[in-house]
Amino acid sequence: MRVALGLAAALGLLVLAGGARAQGLAETCAEPRAYEAAAAANGERILTLPFAPFGRPETGWAAYAPLIMAEIGTACPPESNAFAAALGRFQAAHGAPPDGTVSPESFTLLKGVWQERRPFVMARVAKVCPDPAAAMDLVTLDRTETADDRPQQLRADVAAAFRAMRAAALKDLPEEATSPDVLTVFSSYRDPAADQARCDVQGNCDGAGRALCSPHRTGTAVDLYLGHAPGQAADATTPENRLYQSRTPVYRWLVAHAAAFGFRPYAFEPWHWEWTGPPRP
Ligand SMILES: [Zn+2]
Repeated sequence: MRVALGLAAALGLLVLAGGARAQGLAETCAEPRAYEAAAAANGERILTLPFAPFGRPETGWAAYAPLIMAEIGTACPPESNAFAAALGRFQAAHGAPPDGTVSPESFTLLKGVWQERRPFVMARVAKVCPDPAAAMDLVTLDRTETADDRPQQLRADVAAAFRAMRAAALKDLPEEATSPDVLTVFSSYRDPAADQARCDVQGNCDGAGRALCSPHRTGTAVDLYLGHAPGQAADATTPENRLYQSRTPVYRWLVAHAAAFGFRPYAFEPWHWEWTGPPRP
């Protein structure tokens, strides 16, 4: 009981004093020393690791740091001992050697967990292309909810979840809420026939995946405006743009809260989220 009370008192103090909280976190993150070598390796490779988790060569895993921290359950930074230890626990739970380093192997484990949460991905693994949304199930978003003048449609239940999530985000992020663009939609339901036509006419087939079977056909996938790196499009897959977006408060908010509204991320594209079912309890 004394321990519990002490913890509660400590937590209360941490909440009261932001500086003390940061200091407390820094001290906690420095443990355990057994993961010092792993932490050093992570600190170096976060910007240099060569890997290709989504088919294209990438250098470093910084853009994935928020998702990894959420998945392994730590608020400690990627170069800390506590981060490496938390990753080690995640690795052990998935039957892998708990070395605590982000590597192509450990990232594959993380990616597997993330992708399995997306029914669309699991359908594609089973070589099934989910049916397009029925027109009668779609609703058109308000102009205040879209990034530009193009009309955007989502399945009605997904639109409701999106609206609830956006309202919660803008309430939690008052600075971001001053920008009318934040968390507006720049792509949503896409008619498979139109995607096919665009593929044919523009040669923009997104590796044929878009034309053959895009998650946007379901009316449950949404591309959200998170800002963009200077001079880049909101959906640019460049390392600069993805890293920029991963560091925005709004992306970090989504990583922490979107699942509560039923939305799950596509790790490679910070802007792309899929509604996967009723909100998490
Ligand atoms: Zn998308």
